[in-house]
Amino acid sequence: MSTERMRVKTLLVALLVAASFASAPLSVPGQKTSPVAPSRQQVEAVVREAYDKFRSDTSGKNADYIPYLAQVDSKLFGVAVVTTDNQTLSLGDIDYSFSIQSISKVYTLALAMQELGADKVFQRIGSEPTGRAFNSVPAVVEMPTHTGNPLVNAGAIATTSLISGGNADEKWNKILNFYSKAAGEKLTLIDEVYKSEAATNAGNKALSMLLAKYERIYADPFESVDIYTKQCSVGVNVVQLARMGATLANNGVNPKTGEQVIKREDIPYILATMTMAGLYDGSGGWAWHVGLPAKSGVGGGIVAIAPGKGAIAVFGPRLDEAGNSVKAQKVIEYVARKLDYNIYSPSSVGLKGTRQQP
Ligand code: GLN
Repeated sequence: MSTERMRVKTLLVALLVAASFASAPLSVPGQKTSPVAPSRQQVEAVVREAYDKFRSDTSGKNADYIPYLAQVDSKLFGVAVVTTDNQTLSLGDIDYSFSIQSISKVYTLALAMQELGADKVFQRIGSEPTGRAFNSVPAVVEMPTHTGNPLVNAGAIATTSLISGGNADEKWNKILNFYSKAAGEKLTLIDEVYKSEAATNAGNKALSMLLAKYERIYADPFESVDIYTKQCSVGVNVVQLARMGATLANNGVNPKTGEQVIKREDIPYILATMTMAGLYDGSGGWAWHVGLPAKSGVGGGIVAIAPGKGAIAVFGPRLDEAGNSVKAQKVIEYVARKLDYNIYSPSSVGLKGTRQQP
Protein backbone atom coordinates (compact mmCIF):
# COMPACT_ATOMS: atom_id res chain seq x y z
CA MET A 1 0.00 0.00 0.00
CA SER A 2 1.39 3.45 -0.88
CA THR A 3 2.20 5.87 1.96
CA GLU A 4 -0.47 8.22 0.69
CA ARG A 5 -3.15 5.48 0.67
CA MET A 6 -2.07 4.40 4.15
CA ARG A 7 -2.39 7.97 5.39
CA VAL A 8 -5.91 8.26 3.96
CA LYS A 9 -6.84 4.91 5.52
CA THR A 10 -5.51 5.97 8.93
CA LEU A 11 -7.42 9.23 8.71
CA LEU A 12 -10.62 7.39 7.81
CA VAL A 13 -10.26 5.00 10.74
CA ALA A 14 -9.59 7.94 13.08
CA LEU A 15 -12.69 9.73 11.79
CA LEU A 16 -14.84 6.63 12.25
CA VAL A 17 -13.67 6.17 15.84
CA ALA A 18 -14.27 9.85 16.55
CA ALA A 19 -17.75 9.67 15.05
CA SER A 20 -18.76 6.69 17.15
CA PHE A 21 -17.74 8.53 20.31
CA ALA A 22 -19.51 11.80 19.58
CA SER A 23 -18.90 14.13 22.48
CA ALA A 24 -20.77 17.17 23.64
CA PRO A 25 -19.00 18.24 26.81
CA LEU A 26 -20.49 20.91 28.99
CA SER A 27 -23.05 22.15 26.55
CA VAL A 28 -25.11 23.78 29.29
CA PRO A 29 -23.76 27.21 30.16
CA GLY A 30 -23.20 27.79 33.84
CA GLN A 31 -23.82 24.17 34.81
CA LYS A 32 -21.33 22.77 37.32
CA THR A 33 -19.43 19.63 36.48
CA SER A 34 -19.86 16.91 39.07
CA PRO A 35 -16.61 16.40 41.01
CA VAL A 36 -16.97 12.65 40.49
CA ALA A 37 -17.82 12.65 36.79
CA PRO A 38 -15.44 10.15 35.17
CA SER A 39 -12.87 11.13 32.59
CA ARG A 40 -13.66 10.36 29.00
CA GLN A 41 -10.51 8.26 28.46
CA GLN A 42 -11.29 6.04 31.47
CA VAL A 43 -14.76 5.20 30.27
CA GLU A 44 -14.09 4.97 26.56
CA ALA A 45 -11.55 2.14 26.74
CA VAL A 46 -13.62 0.03 29.13
CA VAL A 47 -16.88 0.45 27.22
CA ARG A 48 -15.18 -0.60 23.99
CA GLU A 49 -13.63 -3.65 25.68
CA ALA A 50 -17.04 -4.69 27.01
CA TYR A 51 -18.68 -4.14 23.64
CA ASP A 52 -16.13 -6.35 21.87
CA LYS A 53 -16.18 -9.00 24.58
CA PHE A 54 -19.94 -9.56 24.55
CA ARG A 55 -20.81 -8.68 20.98
CA SER A 56 -21.25 -12.28 19.80
CA ASP A 57 -22.91 -13.58 22.97
CA THR A 58 -26.08 -15.41 21.98
CA SER A 59 -27.43 -16.52 25.36
CA GLY A 60 -31.05 -15.86 26.30
CA LYS A 61 -34.03 -15.33 24.02
CA ASN A 62 -36.36 -12.54 22.92
CA ALA A 63 -39.55 -11.96 24.89
CA ASP A 64 -42.33 -13.66 22.98
CA TYR A 65 -45.45 -13.03 25.05
CA ILE A 66 -45.74 -9.70 23.21
CA PRO A 67 -45.78 -10.79 19.52
CA TYR A 68 -43.89 -7.71 18.26
CA LEU A 69 -40.92 -8.39 20.53
CA ALA A 70 -40.51 -11.96 19.30
CA GLN A 71 -39.62 -10.74 15.80
CA VAL A 72 -37.10 -8.03 16.78
CA ASP A 73 -33.63 -8.89 15.40
CA SER A 74 -31.88 -10.60 18.34
CA LYS A 75 -28.46 -9.54 17.11
CA LEU A 76 -29.11 -5.84 17.64
CA PHE A 77 -26.66 -4.47 20.20
CA GLY A 78 -26.05 -0.92 21.34
CA VAL A 79 -24.23 0.66 24.28
CA ALA A 80 -24.29 4.30 25.43
CA VAL A 81 -22.89 6.22 28.36
CA VAL A 82 -23.99 9.74 29.25
CA THR A 83 -22.09 11.46 32.05
CA THR A 84 -23.38 14.09 34.43
CA ASP A 85 -21.29 16.64 32.55
CA ASN A 86 -23.01 15.62 29.34
CA GLN A 87 -20.37 13.64 27.58
CA THR A 88 -21.83 10.95 25.35
CA LEU A 89 -20.15 7.73 24.29
CA SER A 90 -22.00 5.30 22.09
CA LEU A 91 -21.27 2.11 20.18
CA GLY A 92 -23.17 -0.31 17.96
CA ASP A 93 -26.83 -0.02 16.96
CA ILE A 94 -27.28 3.39 18.48
CA ASP A 95 -30.08 4.70 16.24
CA TYR A 96 -32.42 1.75 16.67
CA SER A 97 -35.55 2.65 18.63
CA PHE A 98 -36.68 -0.15 20.89
CA SER A 99 -39.64 -0.12 23.26
CA ILE A 100 -38.74 1.19 26.70
CA GLN A 101 -41.13 -1.31 28.36
CA SER A 102 -40.69 -1.57 32.12
CA ILE A 103 -37.98 1.08 32.27
CA SER A 104 -40.87 3.52 31.82
CA LYS A 105 -42.06 2.56 35.32
CA VAL A 106 -39.19 4.52 36.89
CA TYR A 107 -40.22 7.75 35.20
CA THR A 108 -43.93 7.39 35.90
CA LEU A 109 -42.93 6.86 39.53
CA ALA A 110 -40.91 10.09 39.40
CA LEU A 111 -43.88 11.95 37.92
CA ALA A 112 -46.29 10.54 40.51
CA MET A 113 -43.92 11.67 43.29
CA GLN A 114 -43.75 15.11 41.77
CA GLU A 115 -47.53 15.36 41.73
CA LEU A 116 -48.33 13.79 45.11
CA GLY A 117 -45.13 13.85 47.14
CA ALA A 118 -43.01 10.82 47.94
CA ASP A 119 -44.87 9.92 51.16
CA LYS A 120 -48.26 9.54 49.51
CA VAL A 121 -46.78 7.43 46.74
CA PHE A 122 -45.09 5.21 49.30
CA GLN A 123 -48.35 4.80 51.23
CA ARG A 124 -50.38 3.99 48.13
CA ILE A 125 -47.93 1.76 46.28
CA GLY A 126 -45.24 0.65 48.77
CA SER A 127 -41.71 -0.43 47.98
CA GLU A 128 -41.17 -4.06 48.95
CA PRO A 129 -39.59 -6.83 46.89
CA THR A 130 -42.08 -9.39 45.62
CA GLY A 131 -39.56 -12.19 45.04
CA ARG A 132 -41.76 -13.19 42.11
CA ALA A 133 -42.03 -12.63 38.38
CA PHE A 134 -42.85 -9.06 37.31
CA ASN A 135 -46.40 -9.98 36.32
CA SER A 136 -47.14 -12.24 39.28
CA VAL A 137 -50.77 -12.68 40.37
CA PRO A 138 -49.95 -14.48 43.67
CA ALA A 139 -47.80 -11.49 44.69
CA VAL A 140 -50.87 -9.23 44.43
CA VAL A 141 -52.97 -11.60 46.47
CA GLU A 142 -50.40 -12.38 49.15
CA MET A 143 -48.51 -9.14 49.74
CA PRO A 144 -49.98 -6.91 52.46
CA THR A 145 -49.77 -3.89 50.16
CA HIS A 146 -51.03 -5.89 47.13
CA THR A 147 -49.24 -3.42 44.84
CA GLY A 148 -45.75 -4.57 46.01
CA ASN A 149 -43.64 -1.83 44.50
CA PRO A 150 -43.81 0.63 41.55
CA LEU A 151 -41.55 -1.50 39.33
CA VAL A 152 -43.60 -4.69 39.05
CA ASN A 153 -46.62 -4.64 36.75
CA ALA A 154 -49.31 -4.39 39.44
CA GLY A 155 -47.55 -1.60 41.32
CA ALA A 156 -46.70 0.16 38.07
CA ILE A 157 -50.28 0.10 36.81
CA ALA A 158 -51.38 1.49 40.19
CA THR A 159 -48.67 4.19 39.93
CA THR A 160 -49.89 5.15 36.46
CA SER A 161 -53.41 5.41 37.92
CA LEU A 162 -52.12 8.12 40.30
CA ILE A 163 -51.25 10.53 37.46
CA SER A 164 -53.81 13.33 37.32
CA GLY A 165 -55.59 14.62 34.20
CA GLY A 166 -59.06 15.48 32.92
CA ASN A 167 -59.11 12.40 30.67
CA ALA A 168 -56.93 9.51 29.50
CA ASP A 169 -55.33 11.54 26.68
CA GLU A 170 -54.31 14.32 29.05
CA LYS A 171 -52.70 11.83 31.42
CA TRP A 172 -50.90 10.04 28.60
CA ASN A 173 -49.57 13.26 27.07
CA LYS A 174 -48.33 14.38 30.47
CA ILE A 175 -46.44 11.09 30.89
CA LEU A 176 -44.93 11.18 27.39
CA ASN A 177 -43.89 14.80 27.82
CA PHE A 178 -42.22 13.97 31.13
CA TYR A 179 -40.24 11.08 29.58
CA SER A 180 -39.18 13.39 26.74
CA LYS A 181 -37.85 15.93 29.22
CA ALA A 182 -35.86 13.21 30.97
CA ALA A 183 -34.45 12.10 27.59
CA GLY A 184 -33.77 15.69 26.47
CA GLU A 185 -35.47 14.87 23.15
CA LYS A 186 -39.02 14.36 21.97
CA LEU A 187 -39.98 10.71 22.33
CA THR A 188 -42.83 9.00 20.51
CA LEU A 189 -44.99 5.91 20.78
CA ILE A 190 -44.10 2.88 18.62
CA ASP A 191 -47.62 2.25 17.42
CA GLU A 192 -46.98 -1.35 16.33
CA VAL A 193 -45.67 -2.26 19.79
CA TYR A 194 -48.68 -0.64 21.43
CA LYS A 195 -51.14 -2.51 19.17
CA SER A 196 -49.31 -5.80 19.65
CA GLU A 197 -49.27 -5.43 23.43
CA ALA A 198 -52.81 -4.04 23.73
CA ALA A 199 -54.12 -7.10 21.89
CA THR A 200 -52.40 -9.49 24.30
CA ASN A 201 -52.52 -7.81 27.73
CA ALA A 202 -55.33 -9.77 29.39
CA GLY A 203 -52.91 -10.59 32.24
CA ASN A 204 -52.35 -6.91 33.05
CA LYS A 205 -56.10 -6.26 32.88
CA ALA A 206 -56.60 -9.10 35.35
CA LEU A 207 -54.00 -7.56 37.68
CA SER A 208 -55.82 -4.22 37.51
CA MET A 209 -59.15 -5.80 38.45
CA LEU A 210 -57.51 -7.63 41.32
CA LEU A 211 -56.08 -4.31 42.52
CA ALA A 212 -59.60 -2.84 42.30
CA LYS A 213 -60.86 -5.62 44.58
CA TYR A 214 -58.25 -4.58 47.17
CA GLU A 215 -58.91 -0.84 46.57
CA ARG A 216 -55.29 -0.37 45.50
CA ILE A 217 -55.90 1.28 42.11
CA TYR A 218 -56.73 4.98 41.93
CA ALA A 219 -58.46 5.50 38.56
CA ASP A 220 -60.46 3.35 36.16
CA PRO A 221 -58.55 0.01 36.03
CA PHE A 222 -58.73 -0.59 32.26
CA GLU A 223 -57.99 3.05 31.43
CA SER A 224 -54.92 2.78 33.65
CA VAL A 225 -53.79 -0.42 31.91
CA ASP A 226 -54.21 1.27 28.54
CA ILE A 227 -52.07 4.27 29.54
CA TYR A 228 -49.54 1.89 31.10
CA THR A 229 -49.42 -0.11 27.84
CA LYS A 230 -48.74 3.10 25.93
CA GLN A 231 -45.98 4.13 28.30
CA CYS A 232 -44.31 0.72 27.80
CA SER A 233 -44.51 1.21 24.01
CA VAL A 234 -42.51 4.46 23.95
CA GLY A 235 -39.51 4.17 21.63
CA VAL A 236 -36.00 5.07 22.79
CA ASN A 237 -32.54 4.52 21.40
CA VAL A 238 -29.64 3.72 23.74
CA VAL A 239 -28.39 7.29 23.84
CA GLN A 240 -31.80 8.63 24.82
CA LEU A 241 -32.10 5.93 27.46
CA ALA A 242 -28.64 6.67 28.86
CA ARG A 243 -29.59 10.34 29.08
CA MET A 244 -32.78 9.46 30.94
CA GLY A 245 -30.52 7.58 33.35
CA ALA A 246 -28.02 10.42 33.56
CA THR A 247 -30.87 12.71 34.62
CA LEU A 248 -31.27 10.48 37.69
CA ALA A 249 -27.49 10.40 38.24
CA ASN A 250 -27.41 14.19 38.04
CA ASN A 251 -29.85 14.93 40.88
CA GLY A 252 -32.80 15.12 38.50
CA VAL A 253 -31.24 17.69 36.17
CA ASN A 254 -31.02 16.65 32.52
CA PRO A 255 -27.31 17.07 31.69
CA LYS A 256 -28.10 18.12 28.11
CA THR A 257 -30.85 20.66 28.64
CA GLY A 258 -30.01 21.76 32.20
CA GLU A 259 -33.67 21.38 33.15
CA GLN A 260 -34.61 20.11 36.62
CA VAL A 261 -36.90 17.32 35.41
CA ILE A 262 -37.17 15.15 38.52
CA LYS A 263 -37.33 16.57 42.03
CA ARG A 264 -33.92 16.42 43.66
CA GLU A 265 -35.27 15.07 46.95
CA ASP A 266 -37.02 12.19 45.18
CA ILE A 267 -33.84 10.76 43.63
CA PRO A 268 -32.77 8.59 46.61
CA TYR A 269 -36.25 7.03 46.83
CA ILE A 270 -36.22 6.24 43.13
CA LEU A 271 -32.71 4.77 43.18
CA ALA A 272 -33.48 2.71 46.29
CA THR A 273 -36.55 1.28 44.58
CA MET A 274 -34.48 0.47 41.48
CA THR A 275 -31.90 -1.36 43.62
CA MET A 276 -34.59 -3.38 45.32
CA ALA A 277 -36.72 -4.28 42.30
CA GLY A 278 -35.20 -2.89 39.09
CA LEU A 279 -34.35 -6.35 37.76
CA TYR A 280 -37.37 -8.02 39.39
CA ASP A 281 -36.52 -11.33 41.01
CA GLY A 282 -32.99 -10.93 39.59
CA SER A 283 -32.46 -7.79 41.71
CA GLY A 284 -30.70 -9.50 44.63
CA GLY A 285 -28.10 -11.14 42.41
CA TRP A 286 -27.65 -7.89 40.52
CA ALA A 287 -27.05 -5.92 43.74
CA TRP A 288 -24.58 -8.59 44.85
CA HIS A 289 -22.58 -8.64 41.62
CA VAL A 290 -22.94 -5.10 40.29
CA GLY A 291 -24.15 -2.78 43.03
CA LEU A 292 -25.78 -0.15 40.82
CA PRO A 293 -29.43 0.89 40.76
CA ALA A 294 -30.76 -0.23 37.39
CA LYS A 295 -33.94 -0.95 35.50
CA SER A 296 -34.65 -3.45 32.77
CA GLY A 297 -37.41 -3.80 30.20
CA VAL A 298 -38.53 -6.83 28.19
CA GLY A 299 -37.77 -4.82 25.04
CA GLY A 300 -34.10 -5.63 25.79
CA GLY A 301 -32.92 -2.39 27.38
CA ILE A 302 -31.26 -1.90 30.76
CA VAL A 303 -30.15 1.40 32.21
CA ALA A 304 -27.85 1.55 35.26
CA ILE A 305 -27.12 4.62 37.33
CA ALA A 306 -23.81 5.62 38.88
CA PRO A 307 -24.96 8.47 41.16
CA GLY A 308 -23.09 11.70 40.48
CA LYS A 309 -21.20 10.12 37.60
CA GLY A 310 -23.59 9.14 34.85
CA ALA A 311 -25.57 6.29 33.38
CA ILE A 312 -24.97 3.40 31.04
CA ALA A 313 -27.69 2.02 28.79
CA VAL A 314 -27.39 -1.22 26.85
CA PHE A 315 -29.79 -2.74 24.36
CA GLY A 316 -29.77 -6.43 23.39
CA PRO A 317 -33.14 -8.23 22.94
CA ARG A 318 -32.21 -11.67 24.33
CA LEU A 319 -33.50 -12.05 27.89
CA ASP A 320 -32.90 -14.37 30.83
CA GLU A 321 -35.64 -16.18 32.76
CA ALA A 322 -36.50 -13.11 34.86
CA GLY A 323 -36.96 -10.95 31.73
CA ASN A 324 -33.64 -9.06 31.86
CA SER A 325 -31.39 -8.58 28.81
CA VAL A 326 -28.45 -10.98 29.10
CA LYS A 327 -26.00 -8.89 27.04
CA ALA A 328 -26.94 -5.71 28.86
CA GLN A 329 -26.31 -7.33 32.25
CA LYS A 330 -22.94 -8.65 31.13
CA VAL A 331 -21.76 -5.34 29.65
CA ILE A 332 -22.88 -3.28 32.64
CA GLU A 333 -21.34 -5.69 35.14
CA TYR A 334 -18.03 -5.59 33.26
CA VAL A 335 -17.94 -1.80 33.00
CA ALA A 336 -19.09 -1.22 36.58
CA ARG A 337 -16.41 -3.53 37.97
CA LYS A 338 -13.59 -2.18 35.86
CA LEU A 339 -14.48 1.39 36.81
CA ASP A 340 -15.16 0.63 40.50
CA TYR A 341 -18.71 1.96 40.30
CA ASN A 342 -20.35 -0.43 42.79
CA ILE A 343 -22.07 2.01 45.17
CA TYR A 344 -21.53 -0.33 48.11
CA SER A 345 -17.77 -0.31 47.59
CA PRO A 346 -15.81 2.49 49.31
CA SER A 347 -13.59 2.58 46.23
CA SER A 348 -16.57 3.99 44.28
CA VAL A 349 -15.96 7.29 46.07
CA GLY A 350 -12.20 7.16 45.69
CA LEU A 351 -11.05 5.18 48.77
CA LYS A 352 -8.16 3.10 47.45
CA GLY A 353 -7.35 -0.52 48.07
CA THR A 354 -10.74 -2.19 47.68
CA ARG A 355 -10.74 -2.65 43.95
CA GLN A 356 -12.60 -5.68 42.62
CA GLN A 357 -11.58 -7.36 39.40
CA PRO A 358 -14.06 -8.80 36.94
N1 GLN B 1 -45.22 -4.00 29.03
C1 GLN B 1 -44.64 -5.15 29.66
C2 GLN B 1 -45.69 -5.88 30.47
O1 GLN B 1 -46.59 -5.27 30.98
C3 GLN B 1 -43.54 -4.69 30.54
C4 GLN B 1 -42.84 -5.81 31.26
C5 GLN B 1 -41.36 -5.63 31.41
O2 GLN B 1 -40.68 -4.90 30.69
N2 GLN B 1 -40.82 -6.37 32.32
O3 GLN B 1 -45.65 -7.07 30.60
